Amino acid sequence: MTLPSVRTPRDATDVLRRVFGYESFRDGQRQIIEHVVGGGDALVLMPTGGGKSLCYQIPALVRPGTGVVVSPLIALMQDQVDALRALGVQAGFLNSTQDDGARREVEAAFVDGELDLLYLAPERLRLRSTAELLDRGEIALFAIDEAHCVAQWGHDFRPDYLLLSELRQRWPEVPRIALTATATPATHKEITTRLGLENAQHFVADFDRPNIQYRMVAKREPKAQLLEFLRTEHAADAGIVYCLSRSSVEKTADYLVANGITALPYHAGLDARVRAEHQARFLREDGLVMVATIAFGMGIDKPDVRFVAHLDLPKSIEGYYQETGRAGRDGQRATAWLAYGLQDVVQLRRLIEASEGDAAHRRRLSHHLDSMLALCETVECRRIGLLSYFGQQLSAPCGNCDTCLHPQQTWDATVPAQKLLSAVLRLQRERRQKFGAGHLIDILLGRRTPKVSQHSHDTLTVFGIGTELSEAAWRGVVRQLLAQGLLAVEGEHGTLLLTDTSAEVLRKERVVSMRREPERAPRAAGGGGA
Ligand code: ADP
Ligand code: ZN
Repeated sequence: MTLPSVRTPRDATDVLRRVFGYESFRDGQRQIIEHVVGGGDALVLMPTGGGKSLCYQIPALVRPGTGVVVSPLIALMQDQVDALRALGVQAGFLNSTQDDGARREVEAAFVDGELDLLYLAPERLRLRSTAELLDRGEIALFAIDEAHCVAQWGHDFRPDYLLLSELRQRWPEVPRIALTATATPATHKEITTRLGLENAQHFVADFDRPNIQYRMVAKREPKAQLLEFLRTEHAADAGIVYCLSRSSVEKTADYLVANGITALPYHAGLDARVRAEHQARFLREDGLVMVATIAFGMGIDKPDVRFVAHLDLPKSIEGYYQETGRAGRDGQRATAWLAYGLQDVVQLRRLIEASEGDAAHRRRLSHHLDSMLALCETVECRRIGLLSYFGQQLSAPCGNCDTCLHPQQTWDATVPAQKLLSAVLRLQRERRQKFGAGHLIDILLGRRTPKVSQHSHDTLTVFGIGTELSEAAWRGVVRQLLAQGLLAVEGEHGTLLLTDTSAEVLRKERVVSMRREPERAPRAAGGGGA
């Protein structure tokens, strides 16, 4: 008999070629697969498109029994299973979309040892019948896909994932492999403890996507800016435009179509059939622009997405990284373009305040947003900022992001910051009033608007003290103060408030440096991208 250690690598390569039709493993895949085939537990942190699926699919085929895959991507299970079946792999799934007959068929196949892979929706774990079913068959391994869903600290928490901690107690000898494309140190740690993977081997891939050019611009007329970006750099390219709300998805798609761009909307409010059709067209046709909420994209494997554009600020760096990661999976040049403005910050803060969950949960959401804002406002290499969020160091600025290509000038904004903060302070102290950015800027610019007159704000000492800057420049100041935590915003009307650190600026103990923003957006920044 041949020893497993000699046999297994050959088997894994054999399966890679014979079943999946690939010549060789990608970076990291071989080590992960060998480790799991050998019965070891693994935690795999690998960016989207890195090739995580094979890391559990091949061990499931090499080891005796069925690989049980827990995945939150219920909408994709049918497609995944169909794709595997087309390769000759015996696969099935159990989730709420299927009827009793189909469910019983899959269960019988599992018990009879006829399945290589069984996909399970996480809510199945709540059912005692699921554990009883699993006891009746042979399990090759447990794969926990999208493992960051177990982390409350993360951006995509699913309570049912907490039940996965029981796998180890119940089936101690079955190897477990957890996989995710989210690799912040905090999430990594939480996955490890929640899933009991302290003794597992951790495989952390390189998260850099060097072919993606990161760019962030101040939002002025977002749709027109987007159109300009598409026309000058990505005419006839396939890409995704992300918007926060369903209505802005619809409006943006209409606008692009009216301007001669083939665009389709995608959001959870559309009929399931329409969604499926739009998704199929995006995958099949060339040069289609999908305008979508973040409901679109998970598990979408289209290699030639040339750009991902954000018309609204993502809620976290994890989200931003995952969404932009759908660009350029073929390794060719791609652009991640984002437009953001003050209104985004106001809107996202409001969503956080209104969100369900306790104060700790809201603090976490706030922290995610702060990090995203800091990335937007950085004057340093975006890639360095992005990767450091994932605990990865880059030795030098990347040369392929907007701040590298067009080094940002900074200016000493201490005096304007003091003017704005003292206007906030005056209103709060002297009048017990709170206002949003628009009204404060009117006061600083000395505008006698009806609202100014109504509150006789033209009698304030700060009235008209800020005429050296334009309205757009003042909005930039407010945004950057928010990003630096020197100002806070709350409530439906985006009320501005002082923070613990505002006083340092007001007492002249702190210098405020800001990126200089062009009065008009520069045309098509970026390394000669055609
Ligand atoms: P992830 O789950 O990490 O986002 P996937 O597992 O979906 O990534 O893989 C991304 C793409 O790369 C898929 O089209 C997959 O078939 C392909 N792929 C994975 N491993 C290899 C390999 N060794 N050789 C060639 N293509 C691969
Ligand atoms: Zn850079």
